[in-house]
Amino acid sequence: MEYITSSSQETKSLGRKIGSSLKGGEILALVGGLGAGKTTFVQGLAEGLGITSKIISPTFILLRKHGNLYHLDLYRLEDRVEHEVENLGLTDIWGRKDSVVVIEWAEKIKQMLPKETKWITFENIGEDERKITVE
Ligand code: ADP
Ligand code: MG
Repeated sequence: MEYITSSSQETKSLGRKIGSSLKGGEILALVGGLGAGKTTFVQGLAEGLGITSKIISPTFILLRKHGNLYHLDLYRLEDRVEHEVENLGLTDIWGRKDSVVVIEWAEKIKQMLPKETKWITFENIGEDERKITVE
């Protein structure tokens, strides 16, 4: 499914809609360049999951936990990315029925993600326009 959003609010709304449809146990893999709207989407996703704490870009922190939502950002990681992610203990968390895992720059660990992973791609197609493709 392809969506075009024209503001960060619209991207948040899409995240909210998807967040409220989740049952738990999902892994969402977000792909797209800097500023494409991944973190904005996660803010909506968290709202849709009923999470009220503030979602920020975890630039220096690889992983943030907000209730049952695990927010991972692999932007900074270059070497041995899969090894680092294993060290976080994340592989024990994904698939747990009560948790949702959302990963920015998920293509870096494509090999290790389960095949049920939902892939969502973000493209900057104009100043405020973003094309968001939900697999
Ligand atoms: P990423 O996490 O992909 O690097 P962010 O969500 O942190 O991206 O940043 C997206 C930036 O683009 C924000 O400054 C946001 O205000 C702006 N923006 C403009 N239009 C949109 C849109 N349609 N969807 C999402 N963000 C948008
Ligand atoms: Mg981000």
